[in-house]
Amino acid sequence: MRIDSLDIHRVSMPLIYPFRTAFGNDEAIESVFVRMRSGGQAGWGEAASWRAPAYSPECAATQFVISRDFIAPLLLGKELESGMALQEALAGIKGNFFAKAAFDLAWWDLHAKLRGAPLWKTIGGEKPVVDAGADFGVMETIDLLLETMGKALADGYKRIKLKYRPGWDMDMIAAVRAAFPKAVIHIDCNSAYRLSDLVMFKALDRFKLAMIEQPLAHDDLIDHARLQAALETPICLDESITSPAKARQAIQIKACRWVNIKPGRVGGVTNALAIHDICRDAGIPCWIGGMLESAVGASHCVALATLPNVKYPCDIFPTSRFYRQDLGVPAMEHCAPSQFQASDRPGVGAEPDMALLKACGMEQVELPRNA
Ligand SMILES: [Mg+2]
Repeated sequence: MRIDSLDIHRVSMPLIYPFRTAFGNDEAIESVFVRMRSGGQAGWGEAASWRAPAYSPECAATQFVISRDFIAPLLLGKELESGMALQEALAGIKGNFFAKAAFDLAWWDLHAKLRGAPLWKTIGGEKPVVDAGADFGVMETIDLLLETMGKALADGYKRIKLKYRPGWDMDMIAAVRAAFPKAVIHIDCNSAYRLSDLVMFKALDRFKLAMIEQPLAHDDLIDHARLQAALETPICLDESITSPAKARQAIQIKACRWVNIKPGRVGGVTNALAIHDICRDAGIPCWIGGMLESAVGASHCVALATLPNVKYPCDIFPTSRFYRQDLGVPAMEHCAPSQFQASDRPGVGAEPDMALLKACGMEQVELPRNA
């Protein structure tokens, strides 16, 4: 397909409750949307790197600049017959995976629409209904967490993910395990620890957690391999897996037994599929994570969650969990308790509400500028 035009929108999507990051409490999620046009058809992509570089080295402001000044000029007017061709066209740009991802997601939406097929079938998904888990951050008290978790389990959630960091750690997990001895639980450390915390991690083995997500530095593989060798509990890598090459290296040195695939973090659907296949071939199961995207980005996550090597409930949420109104339509809603269904419409099945895209807009550009 020939890329006729590209629109890039940086937006701020107000949250119902502030989201806690290393830089304080964010009242909104900053995200970047891309509309890619070819032959009278348009596809949409979204990648949310957030206001500050708290999760990865990128943030929405840098994502917008890299998208406008470096990525779009490399794609405009080009014939891109595959997601891999798009990735190869951008190979000269180092890093900036979220920036690349929004274009890659738009390409896949457009590609599936031009074929007249749903995205989940286009990428080899096997079943349109996918499981989602429940996630809980740091709360005011452990009692409040236990009460909230009890409701989630009663609502049918098959697994619980808990944020885990200094001050909200061993005592919390001990109380949770005592209250829910059989529940499938894992913790996400978001890179808060170092290898010198090995003794603490070994002490977690007795709680039979499903996995420990990203315990060590955001860009580390080597120390994770040393930690994994010392633990019974599987390690799941999130932040560290930014590309298919990183996934291959992590598996080679046994740095993890699970991989959380986020399409934004890895540069899009193309690389998500490659990582999925590398993991499948190595016997490493995956699941799909997200960045609190609107229904546009989240619908790409649902499509990826239909892949056969996705073996654990994913981080996909109904709109009502974080937003009063979803910037994407249709909004995210469960099709059954703790489940979502991939759209059967051509493409990914969601696109922005244009009035809301404008209302939430921080900066935007239409390319070519004289289009
Ligand atoms: Mg994580």
